[in-house]
Amino acid sequence: MDIIKHKKLSKSRGVTIPKDLAAAKGFYAGNGVDLVEVEDGILLKNHVPVCRFCGSVESVAKIKGEEICAKCAAEIRAEIEEKFK
Ligand SMILES: [Zn+2]
Repeated sequence: MDIIKHKKLSKSRGVTIPKDLAAAKGFYAGNGVDLVEVEDGILLKNHVPVCRFCGSVESVAKIKGEEICAKCAAEIRAEIEEKFK
């Protein structure tokens, strides 16, 4: 992996991704990103939705502002139906 660009962090530790690099990697304004700690730094990746309950990335949707997988949603639905019957 080559270092493609050199940038300085802003006072708030932000960095602007060059337009050509952002476009090449699919980074668009307003999209979520994941910061992944790696041995020698931080890896910036497009956000992958992850279930907040089990950590799955399969069939994840955002409900009431939280990411949840279909399996956990079904379990919660059953628990709610049991508690409110
Ligand atoms: Zn889940």
